[in-house]
Amino acid sequence: MNYKFANRIERVKPSAIRELLKLGADPSIISFGGGYPDPEIFPIEKLRKVYDQVLLEEGKLALQYTGTEGLMALREKLVNRVKKIGISCDVDNLFIIQGGQQGLDLAAKAFIDYGDIIITENPTFLGALAAFNPYEPEYIGVSMDENGMRMDELEAVLQKHPNAKLIYTVPEFQNPTGVTMSLERRKALVDLANKYNVVIVEDSPYREIRYEGEDLPSIKSFDTEGRVIHIGSFSKILSPGLRLGWLIADRALAEKLCLLKMASDTQNSTLNMYAVNRFMDMYDLDEHIAHIKKTYKHKKELMFQTLQEAFPKSVTYTYPQGGLFTWLTFPQHIDTKILMQERSLPIAKVAYVPGESFFPNMQERNHCRINYSYMSEDNIIKGITSLGEIVKEMC
Ligand code: PMP
Repeated sequence: MNYKFANRIERVKPSAIRELLKLGADPSIISFGGGYPDPEIFPIEKLRKVYDQVLLEEGKLALQYTGTEGLMALREKLVNRVKKIGISCDVDNLFIIQGGQQGLDLAAKAFIDYGDIIITENPTFLGALAAFNPYEPEYIGVSMDENGMRMDELEAVLQKHPNAKLIYTVPEFQNPTGVTMSLERRKALVDLANKYNVVIVEDSPYREIRYEGEDLPSIKSFDTEGRVIHIGSFSKILSPGLRLGWLIADRALAEKLCLLKMASDTQNSTLNMYAVNRFMDMYDLDEHIAHIKKTYKHKKELMFQTLQEAFPKSVTYTYPQGGLFTWLTFPQHIDTKILMQERSLPIAKVAYVPGESFFPNMQERNHCRINYSYMSEDNIIKGITSLGEIVKEMC
């Protein structure tokens, strides 16, 4: 069939990397590719009790439609929870979304027209590019260092493109680099956004998975003009299968974004919202998060110890203080996509995500993203050791 597609479909394509990663689903492959939580941390028994009680006591409400904004009791809990990252907001500023990914889609729908300039970190989260692409923007990537997006470069970009629409950032333990934006840069980012009248999308799904260092206030906490959209998620602190997140914005903007959500999916699952709300009443979410952090910290340490032992010194990597990923940089002559196709998958039986797809424009080919939350400890040692052997032959 020769479909008369909308122009935007041109930008909706499976990437070669995605195809490559499908090979990583083979059970004989050790995959550091996905961004999955460790399934061992899912509180299955507790959730079973929670769902039982919700259905028994509130079944008629929990299986019914509810408002697009989501369950009031859950929104109230979240309004309280975000106080500790410096966000003082009201329930009218916060609504429930289908994971952080929907927040990105809603922001794109509300702000991006064909050809608009969107500024991202370079590299940036693949899923954000996928959410923005159908709205046909142009991207400008701003380099990062160990303190996050570089503000001198951002200012130069804004001077050149004062009409830029959005700045997208993952300020904590960024996907893919694991880097966290410093306090000074958070403040500077808001100052620049104010000066050039740009909206900031602060995507913070990993914020609570910090196992070293000090918590930092959110970028939203420095926002005095209603220009920061803050997006949070239950995916990494409870379960991604529940598809629950939250979006915080200026009241009028939150209302518009919520209308867009209504048009797209009416609301989140009422049952899941009741369940998470009750989970937070019956159990201590922070205690659960502490358990997740302990598990990942241990896996991270194992990953770095093995990287240090198995990899040549010419391969460098970031040391994240939290989150799920590290970012490896190989010598210039190594193209990580070719390495994966020709050696890592067939010989070492290891998958990762080649770095090139995280760059919105200029593609650097000598990086890869490695996840350390999903694989078992044995597989972390086995996979990194085998990968190290083939990498050593090439360095
Ligand atoms: N933002 C970032 C930076 C992510 O890494 C992810 C997924 N891992 C998401 C948003 C979306 O996650 P979810 O929709 O499950 O909250």
